[in-house]
Amino acid sequence: MCTGSADVELAKRCSIHYNRKNKREPMPVAEIVTIGTELLLGEILDTNTRFLARELRNLGVDLYRTTTVGDNEERIAGVLKEALGRSQIVLTTGGLGPTVDDPTRQAVARALGVKLEFHPELWQQIQERFQRYGRQPSENNRRQAFIPQGAIPIPNPVGTAPAFIGETSEACIICLPGVPREMEYLFQHAVVPYLKERFHLHGVIQVRVLHTAGVGESQIDEWIGDLETSSNPTVGLLAHPGQCDIRITAKAETPENAASMIADMEALVRQRCGEAIFGADADTLETVIAGQLSRLGWKLLVVEVGLEGELCARLRHPSLADVSTCRAETIAEEGSPLVPEKTDEAQVFLGVCLSRDFDSFSLRWEIVSPQGRQTGLRKFGGAPALVKTWAGNTALDLVRRHLSQKG
Ligand code: AMP
Ligand code: MG
Repeated sequence: MCTGSADVELAKRCSIHYNRKNKREPMPVAEIVTIGTELLLGEILDTNTRFLARELRNLGVDLYRTTTVGDNEERIAGVLKEALGRSQIVLTTGGLGPTVDDPTRQAVARALGVKLEFHPELWQQIQERFQRYGRQPSENNRRQAFIPQGAIPIPNPVGTAPAFIGETSEACIICLPGVPREMEYLFQHAVVPYLKERFHLHGVIQVRVLHTAGVGESQIDEWIGDLETSSNPTVGLLAHPGQCDIRITAKAETPENAASMIADMEALVRQRCGEAIFGADADTLETVIAGQLSRLGWKLLVVEVGLEGELCARLRHPSLADVSTCRAETIAEEGSPLVPEKTDEAQVFLGVCLSRDFDSFSLRWEIVSPQGRQTGLRKFGGAPALVKTWAGNTALDLVRRHLSQKG
């Protein structure tokens, strides 16, 4: 592993180079290009994009595009040329290995219109790393010490593939290894200091997610459609079966400003959506119900029919010690009660029965508590694979709403 002094050295190399230019840059736009035929064949999941997207968000850098391209020099060079024409930060991962099918170095040189250049110090580091493992680098590994002319080398203390940053007057192209652990390390220790220095990054992006249940995405869209056109903070919807998230993203100079922009927008959204919102960020229906039960000092008893244990499994949540569940395999006859007629004690009963009609599903539900009895029917016409999740969310939301009437 790398030592602290190697970290400092890594950060210094990037900033020293940049200080020479000493020029203020406008707020950059980023894009990510992940390289590897295995990604296009669906053999591995592109987790590098997710990591980099989150990191850029934390840095306050707008990410406008992500692209995946196979190990083909011409196609990579084409994608990079386009990216350099519209973005100031182009991040690539993958294709830096020692073999012929790792063409990122050549492709970047081609996109920048320069040749590859041998760096003896990179070759030295590669050799030293192999020696530490008692092995000899092959002649192929020497390829990894070639980077495009004028590029800033980023030594790799956690792997063999050196990374590098190519620069044009407006943009930079930052090439990182594909192995996630190496890529993440180099990004945090070398790329973040470089980006902060070159683009004077001090903005932040903050995100708040409000969770709704019991209403469809289109209903929410009707309530807050105008807010979804706001450019900062932005407001976006993400639908799940029986649940819909409202994501508020603010970009500002300081965390305090971002938080206050989010709070203003959140107040508007809450005003429009009312009790459809059950929580925010890490809240789930389970944790919200657990809080309600403990405030009321009530126990929840659940009978589920036709959900194949979905609801019972979700209610085995560690925070829900006050819940008893019971699952029946056969569909309860229509009209037959799923739960007792009434209860006087500190108990709330939930009964749900899921049945399939011709091309849709019905969820019959009954809730009984000391404050009264509610019954109803909900319909689901979405994909059958999603019906159990929908039914679980719908049932829990009904309980949540029933308990909130009690306050
Ligand atoms: P490479 O640098 O192209 O030789 O990639 C080395 C290894 O990193 C691959 O074999 C993958 O296992 C992994 N890898 C490459 N690209 C990605 C990516 N976008 N997301 C996750 N893992 C990746
Ligand atoms: Mg590869």
